[in-house]
Amino acid sequence: MFVSNCLNVNDKGHLTIGGMDTVELAQTYATPLYVFDEDEIRRACQSYKASIEKYYGGHGIAAYASKAFCCKEICRVAQDEQMGLDVVSLGELYTAIQAGFDPSKIYFHGNNKTPQELLAALEHNVGRIVVDNLTELEILNQLAISQNKHVGIFFRIKPGIDAHTHNFIRTGQIDSKFGLALETGEAMEAIQKTLEYSNIELKGLHCHIGSQIFDIEPFVLAAQVMLKLMADVKKQTGLELQELSLGGGFGIKYLEGHNPPAYDTYMEKVSQAVKQTCKELGLQMPFIILEPGRSVVGPAGITLYTVGCVKEIPNIRTYVSVDGGMTDNPRYIMYGSEYEAMIANKADQPRDHKVTIAGKCCESGDLIGENMPIQEPKAGDTLAVLATGAYNYSMASNYNRIGRPAVVFVKGGKARVVVKRESLEDLCRNDL
Ligand SMILES: *Cc1c(COP(=O)(O)O)cnc(C)c1O
Repeated sequence: MFVSNCLNVNDKGHLTIGGMDTVELAQTYATPLYVFDEDEIRRACQSYKASIEKYYGGHGIAAYASKAFCCKEICRVAQDEQMGLDVVSLGELYTAIQAGFDPSKIYFHGNNKTPQELLAALEHNVGRIVVDNLTELEILNQLAISQNKHVGIFFRIKPGIDAHTHNFIRTGQIDSKFGLALETGEAMEAIQKTLEYSNIELKGLHCHIGSQIFDIEPFVLAAQVMLKLMADVKKQTGLELQELSLGGGFGIKYLEGHNPPAYDTYMEKVSQAVKQTCKELGLQMPFIILEPGRSVVGPAGITLYTVGCVKEIPNIRTYVSVDGGMTDNPRYIMYGSEYEAMIANKADQPRDHKVTIAGKCCESGDLIGENMPIQEPKAGDTLAVLATGAYNYSMASNYNRIGRPAVVFVKGGKARVVVKRESLEDLCRNDL
């Protein structure tokens, strides 16, 4: 019944997260409410770190992709767990800096960074800027010269592996807005250009092949393609790149039928492939960067709602309306993403009702999901949607002038608010 290890049922028949009663949390902090088990997040961080130790001699780092869920507290937790951090905007960088995150462990991504963002990255001496294209390279070069800064960069490469087709395929030329293509020579051109720039040092290469991936083979293939490029770079320029970022995208269990491989397995297989390929190509083993986002926070989070009206349309469907919706979880309306849900105050009862969970926004498509098995729903029940820790809060909006919910972390039998609920004043703050 539970897609995540941090969930359980207590003797009152209530759903618990990190051992805490979700019905009590909903009463204390009001709904809608995001709740995370901090220990579950930490366990994910630790398992990435341990797998790099075990299979790759510790010669690498896991950098949490903060776009999955970004606030100051998660940056502090990531720092405490010795993770690096991926940011993709000035806002995410600012949040990390405000949280006291070590800038030397920050990787700045994005396909269209503004000069302002690049300037901020230089000012704060972020560890690596992951340069996406030649335009960005030129701007960065100018800025680095004018600021008298020296900066280490990666190039984002399109390895030509599409992990999202039914059986993932390798295409010649992938259609993506991200990164430099291999086939056209664009990637090599950028690499060669960089060698002429005295304020920019090319440290390595980066790729990210997609998200919510259950297969390991695309990761292995991507690593091989990237190492082959590193060998070509060495041959053509004499430069042996020392770092390789293989991105994130590790799948999590949203539905009971999902069966993602253990994080360990990714690192085990990818390490084997990297070792083998380096040997074949005569390369030193690069420092590896993994960038998990979803898998660090997704399983650790749930969303709690209060059930309002239950609308039974005979022979068609039953709508169960909740006090949130697409404003706090836009993933169904955006991608048709599926979740497990349950009535938190009846968690020990069978989920024998199939319902459509609807939000309160003025959009027919504002649903959390359809055909979802839950316990018998009644107005006033607490409804929990599971595994919402990633890409929910970070994608939340103020549509219909609905304030974003609070975020609560639980740990060691204690709960604390880490992001306050948006108030009515917050909603009008910038209105003149
Ligand atoms: C989104 C993203 C990640 C994280 O992806 P997940 O699927 O959340 O693990 C990592 N690296 C880059 C460059 C990304 O864009």
